[in-house]
Amino acid sequence: MKPTHIEHIGIAVKDLKQAISYYENVLGLKCYAVEEVKDQKVKTAFFKVGQTKIELLESTDPEGPIGKFIEKKGEGMHHIAFAVENIEQSLKDAENNGIRVIDKIPRKGAEGLEIGFLHPKSTFGVLTELCENKNK
Ligand code: ZN
Repeated sequence: MKPTHIEHIGIAVKDLKQAISYYENVLGLKCYAVEEVKDQKVKTAFFKVGQTKIELLESTDPEGPIGKFIEKKGEGMHHIAFAVENIEQSLKDAENNGIRVIDKIPRKGAEGLEIGFLHPKSTFGVLTELCENKNK
């Protein structure tokens, strides 16, 4: 696979509003989008730093993936997302390299990106997202 840059860093937070206020008022970044991703049971807020985004994730359901993550580990860095050129092939490449792939076929993420996750058990503890923007 061929990552072109870090597309975003996902950070799990308990309270989106409070976290947005920190990123805006302390770090001086501007929240440019808030979006609910129903099938992930999250509300997301996006900031841009250069080419890279920060994606804040607030759970909308304690049983959802972010709800469970926060219960187990608390708030904090949740995943890193690499932009790749061919998401289908990249997921296959990872699988062929013996990596545990959570999404064998890409699905729709926030901002209309095609995304797929690699399991942290085979990526040295970091939940890794691959994504491709097919709308550009
Ligand atoms: Zn993400």
